[in-house]
Amino acid sequence: MTEPVRQPPAVDPRPIEERLDHPLGERAPITPRERMTILRQLMPEQDADERSHNFGEVNLGLPEKLAILEAERCLLCKNPTCIDGCPVRVNIPRFIDLMARGDMRAAADSLLDDNALPCVTGRVCPQETQCEGVCLRGRRGDPVAIGYLERFVADWAASHPNGAPANAPASTGRSVAVIGSGPAGLTAAGELAKRGHSVTVFEAFHAPGGVLIYGIPEFRLPKDVVKQEIERLEGLGVRIEPNTIVGKTYTLDELRGRFDAVFIAVGAGLPVFMNVPGENLKGVYSANEYLTRVNLMGAYDPNSDTPVLKGQRVAVVGGGNVAMDAVRTARRLGAEEAIIVYRRGEDELPARREEFHHAQQEGIRFELLAAPVEVLGENGWVTALRCVRMELGEPDESGRRRPQPVDGSGFVIDCDMVVVAIGTRSNPLLTASSAGLKVNEWGYIETDGAGMTSIPGVFAGGDIVRGAATVILAMGDGKRAAAAIDAYLLGALPAD
Ligand code: FAD
Ligand code: SF4
Repeated sequence: MTEPVRQPPAVDPRPIEERLDHPLGERAPITPRERMTILRQLMPEQDADERSHNFGEVNLGLPEKLAILEAERCLLCKNPTCIDGCPVRVNIPRFIDLMARGDMRAAADSLLDDNALPCVTGRVCPQETQCEGVCLRGRRGDPVAIGYLERFVADWAASHPNGAPANAPASTGRSVAVIGSGPAGLTAAGELAKRGHSVTVFEAFHAPGGVLIYGIPEFRLPKDVVKQEIERLEGLGVRIEPNTIVGKTYTLDELRGRFDAVFIAVGAGLPVFMNVPGENLKGVYSANEYLTRVNLMGAYDPNSDTPVLKGQRVAVVGGGNVAMDAVRTARRLGAEEAIIVYRRGEDELPARREEFHHAQQEGIRFELLAAPVEVLGENGWVTALRCVRMELGEPDESGRRRPQPVDGSGFVIDCDMVVVAIGTRSNPLLTASSAGLKVNEWGYIETDGAGMTSIPGVFAGGDIVRGAATVILAMGDGKRAAAAIDAYLLGALPAD
């Protein structure tokens, strides 16, 4: 384990351990000047060489004393911009202040009140572009490590369960079907259950969690953490029906007939391919299939029955979080060389900076400004990826500089496996079988300001509305839709 490197400056001549060595909540108040002198704490992490051969979690979490020290860096601003930076509007200074005072139970209650999956978001949210990106403490020095603190309090709450909620809400007698158990569906389900509605979640896979379970690998988000969060929601009364594909097992119409309202949160999990020659050779996976085999089907466990190729030289095409997860997974499954092939440069990589740095530390090779033009093979199996060098031209509609091939720059990357991680789109299985459900030109469901679709009483949110986005944006949709569904069920929105 690598110990945190940065330590606080001498605001107090005593070492940290001594300074914090007294009953929680009984410390002398800390002055704003002192808060400004404490440096941001670093996350302890598993050694890079060691972790590139195992699936154990990379980030190990702050020890309690350093978490409290980090909490003391928060200025408890009168107008906290961090809350505006959070798509589910967690009251960040409130839970941080409570933890700094040593009242972990109250901090946990405050956080859980705002956020249905804090153990998850504390690990995978891009805080650097959200709450931490607008934290006022960051104007002079580093922002407060809000994500680390969220993870600390959430993990504390998970290891100190509170039992069943003291005052279960009175039943409203109304029922809601939620389709899909990713972050959007789970958040909506929890919020609706808290309001006294009867909620059933229908999930196509045998295990709930969506991308949190089948996509994001164990070394970033342990499955036990996700399971525990789901058990807490079940404790609120949410029922989950796995192995149920809506559009096959039941139609949307049937569910609309059985329930008072429906929330569709089926994600956007259909892989996009490169459309280059040789892409159907054996040894080419979509990232979706590769990660599902490894995570959901347990192929990372040497005793698992799930077959998965263990390439020695693996090329992963793409530069987002999915590509980083796939390439780091290949490394852990024994690849001597695991390579990212991305058509833009380092500054344009869409993956979180932390994932990029972790990948670099783990010895991942980066072939940037390179685009595949053909998958080469022998006897039906992949042997190499033919690529061209790219250069960045004028910005495109997205504002990013457009990559253009450089004439005569062809080169070959030898590899025995290729993983395509260049994006996903909506799966038409449910939408195409649901008459009257309006979708846009890319197949994503259209909703009004309240999240209601073209079918009265049927709401939608998460990636199936936005296109592939983030966990917290999906959760924000789930939270907003739950409020709108509640209003609809209680007659405040127009009924059908
Ligand atoms: P999903 O999580 O996709 O869940 C949809 C669920 O619906 C699935 O369980 C699916 O099986 C089920 N379903 C689909 N069709 C049906 C049907 N017809 N009937 C019943 N059930 C159905 N975001 C971040 O913020 N940080 C990250 O670090 C990050 N890393 C990622 C890594 C990977 C590998 C991937 C793939 C995505 C990552 N994302 C990350 C994006 C994020 O996970 C998604 O934006 C988010 O999960 C979308 O949530 P959702 O609830 O809309 O859908
Ligand atoms: Fe604390 Fe930063 Fe939020 Fe201010 S903006 S309350 S310093 S986390």
